[in-house]
Amino acid sequence: MSEEKLPESMPCDECQAGVMNLRFITYFTWLGEELITVQNFPAWICDVCGRREYDEKAISWLSMLLDPNAGKPTGHKPASPHRIPGQSSRPSADLS
Ligand SMILES: [Zn+2]
Repeated sequence: MSEEKLPESMPCDECQAGVMNLRFITYFTWLGEELITVQNFPAWICDVCGRREYDEKAISWLSMLLDPNAGKPTGHKPASPHRIPGQSSRPSADLS
């Protein structure tokens, strides 16, 4: 198994001449009106044109982290309707 280690450089799609190297940068993003900075964020940076590409996994991790709805437990409602045992349902009167 030699696939778990990522290659540390790859050819650039943009300029076709440069090589993109894995760097750890400070990533800036806006969350509403707040500027979020993430240090040591993995990014691929071309040494010729300077194109940046962020690691897919890191991006999805980040968006999960910043999404207030992500990972929220959905269990505020009870799992089953609460019933009181021993109370038989009364026949409903038809008042029409
Ligand atoms: Zn390039």
